[in-house]
Amino acid sequence: MTAETASPEATKEQPKPQATQQAKPAQEEQANCLACNKPIKKLKRYYRNGKFYCNKKCWRKATLKVKEEKK
Ligand SMILES: [Zn+2]
Repeated sequence: MTAETASPEATKEQPKPQATQQAKPAQEEQANCLACNKPIKKLKRYYRNGKFYCNKKCWRKATLKVKEEKK
């Protein structure tokens, strides 16, 4: 005879902390041109200095803008 007393509560299912589906602001890729703010299509984007633009023209525009601000 064993004197063990297994409590019936031991096998009780524990409620798992459910991961609530929150719309967390995942770091999205830059989707808009910095110069004209138009959405950039992946195939046509123009990448310069870690930023995306729609084309060289917009990039030039953006760089000029930055230069003016840095005066
Ligand atoms: Zn643009």
